[in-house]
Amino acid sequence: MPARVAVNGFGTIGKRVARAVSLQDDMEVVGVSKTKPNYEARLANKEGMPLYVADSKNLNEFREQGIEVEGNLQELLTKVDIVIDCTPEGIGRENKKLYEEADIKAIFQGGEKHEVAGLSFNAFATYDAAYGRRYSRVVSCNTTGLIRTLYPLDRMFKLDEVFASIIRRGADPAESKGSALNAVEPSLHLPTHHGTDVRTVMPDLKISTMAAKVPTTNMHVHCIHAKLRKSNVKTADVLSLWDQMPRIKFVSGKHGIKTSGQIMEIARDLGRHGGDFAETIVWEDGVHVEDKSLYYYQAVHQESDVIPENIDCIRSMMEMERDATRSIRKTDKSLGLV
Ligand code: NAD
Repeated sequence: MPARVAVNGFGTIGKRVARAVSLQDDMEVVGVSKTKPNYEARLANKEGMPLYVADSKNLNEFREQGIEVEGNLQELLTKVDIVIDCTPEGIGRENKKLYEEADIKAIFQGGEKHEVAGLSFNAFATYDAAYGRRYSRVVSCNTTGLIRTLYPLDRMFKLDEVFASIIRRGADPAESKGSALNAVEPSLHLPTHHGTDVRTVMPDLKISTMAAKVPTTNMHVHCIHAKLRKSNVKTADVLSLWDQMPRIKFVSGKHGIKTSGQIMEIARDLGRHGGDFAETIVWEDGVHVEDKSLYYYQAVHQESDVIPENIDCIRSMMEMERDATRSIRKTDKSLGLV
């Protein structure tokens, strides 16, 4: 029987998670939940996702606007095995008591703290640890991107220390507030939380991070300096390692791909749904090893890179597939990440 899934919060991440679940043959979207009767509620109706209101007192408002609603969130939670909480930062923590009452499993997103779930998820690093668990948290878009390239490096060459500068998109494309229109805003609380967050998945990694927001909505870009423990590692060895990894893609400045905007254009040219690019994108000709220092640049599409991770996390928590590699392959095939 397919896993019965609810998605609470049908915004940037929630609508993508719901669509990705609906593409799997071993899970189904039983319903999605929204607070407000905005266009995304209409989208849920249009896409055939059964819609529930997060707060019963808003039920009439939805119906008055001609939006079809099946019931309230509490009712939805009685019908599912697992809920994917995609509500804004901090709300997932408050929702946890609803999930406890409904006696169902729950996945939280990167806006919540590690402690909310007690396990932070990345498909390559913590799939086994999430197996059969009641709660997990899929780490943020930046943390997911960092782990995708650092985890295999650490396995193959051992990392002594990592320093990453994160150039953050100021806001998502649909948002009208978030960053200064024509300025760069450094994060003044140092080192930034991104390194700490990577350690929720790779606890032994010595990593520190800095970050600055810039006025773009396209992607985040990471400038990474990793110190390798192993000697005589060549640039080609690193490229060959990443080339074998799912969810890492190369682009090349030599082929004219020099900006995050061009990467987003490739996603549209490939016909990816919504112009999303869920893989971590590494500039092939921006990778350089000198002595034991590895330098590289990567780009992360903030709205989509955590989506395949949510699918694998469901499979692991629901004990539907024991092997991480098989789950990753299945997810990627269903989402066209090949
Ligand atoms: P969003 O604001 O785009 O969407 C949140 C949705 O939840 C909206 O539809 C909103 O109406 C709804 N909502 C608000 N309060 C609710 C409640 N009490 N109950 C049910 N629904 C409610 O937010 P998002 O960007 O999708 O972020 C969701 C989570 O994903 C956060 O933890 C965030 O940190 C994380 N995340 C976001 C990004 C990103 O770049 N957008 C990337 C990775 C992870």
